Amino acid sequence: MANGESGSVENMRTQMDRAREYAEVDENVFTRMQHPERTLKVSVPVLMDDGEERVFEGYRCQFDGGRGPYKGGVRYHPSVTMDEVTALAGWMSWKNALVDLPYGGAKGGVSCDPKELSRDELKRLTRRYTEGIRRMIGPQIDIPAPDMNTNPQVMAWMMDTYSVYEGYTVPQVVTGKPVEIGGTPGRVEATGRGVSIVTEQLFEHLDEAIDDATVAIQGFGNVGAWAARLLARRGANVVAASDVSGGLYDPDGLDVIGLAEYVEEGGDLAEYGDPDATEIANDALLALDVDVVIPAAIANVITTEVAENLEAGVVVEAANGPTTPGADDVLAERDIPVVPDILANAGGVTVSYLEWVQNTQEYAWTLEQVNAELERRLVSAFDETVETYTDRGIPDLRTAAYAIAIDRCGRAHSYRGLFP
Ligand code: GLU
Repeated sequence: MANGESGSVENMRTQMDRAREYAEVDENVFTRMQHPERTLKVSVPVLMDDGEERVFEGYRCQFDGGRGPYKGGVRYHPSVTMDEVTALAGWMSWKNALVDLPYGGAKGGVSCDPKELSRDELKRLTRRYTEGIRRMIGPQIDIPAPDMNTNPQVMAWMMDTYSVYEGYTVPQVVTGKPVEIGGTPGRVEATGRGVSIVTEQLFEHLDEAIDDATVAIQGFGNVGAWAARLLARRGANVVAASDVSGGLYDPDGLDVIGLAEYVEEGGDLAEYGDPDATEIANDALLALDVDVVIPAAIANVITTEVAENLEAGVVVEAANGPTTPGADDVLAERDIPVVPDILANAGGVTVSYLEWVQNTQEYAWTLEQVNAELERRLVSAFDETVETYTDRGIPDLRTAAYAIAIDRCGRAHSYRGLFP
């Protein structure tokens, strides 16, 4: 791989290259947009409960700031590397542009396994990581949010740490906070809700009914579990779900409400006592003959080989970067539509934006207002993507979504010009 990069940044650049011919972007501006603006690597020493000190590695990458303050989540996962964080920051930049939020894109993370950390260790790690990146973030500069294995509690610690240094409470420095300290109703389920909204839109577009459509979900964390619940509420039949502990399959439909509650309380998905469900391995789940398959876990799970064996009618990407460019080619050839991550999982950052707006206005909205605004924005981004795909004769929805995002970011850079 070029320049010592592993897969994710290279995949993202390939996705950008594919959209370039459909975007009206200046060549120099495009080259600039391929390079992250800055990445900070910090050492995160943490006093463990046993009295030992351990040093973790943390990162924050600000990829493209043409359209506004940088915005994107923070993940805690053993897979976190500079390459992964950089690609994720790039994807945030294009996602925020596609849904037309006044933001650039960023991402951060700490390489750790949060399952092995106590609550106190997690708190110390979060505070030290926040101290490490605090010169880089701020309510008008860069606004972190939850991502894989981070949650409202982690955001509360980040907000508190930043506020201690500033000397006053700064709620709008992070989004995804608990409602009690400036979070918004609807943020926890927003990404899953967005997945259910775009899936329904796709079915409408294909002139098919979502009622009783069969769904398989790989990954049952916050996003997967909420997507399952909300799709079931829209009439779909979630027949399979999996996470790192294993998978469950019931052709008549899983008890998603019970399963989600059980997993949220710390249970292993594979251990859920559903007498009608059988075990299913992760790769078998991705090969199920269902109407919708939803990768909702980590990147690069739909490889060329997985794409060749995929039997689902459509793929909706709840995770970031789950499909490799080679797999995209196979799926396009096989006429299997893919709703790309930057559209399918944009519900989270959209509601983050609404939280930031409320914090800035110092005025709280109702859940109904938040959900209505989320739906309006996602439906509009979906319609624009399909229109661009059709009007410009673009081979797939991802390339269409990228063309819109690259156009928007490119125009922002052209107006602003190159400094000095
Ligand atoms: N981590 C989420 C994402 O990948 C949300 C980011 C945010 O709310 O800023 O889109």
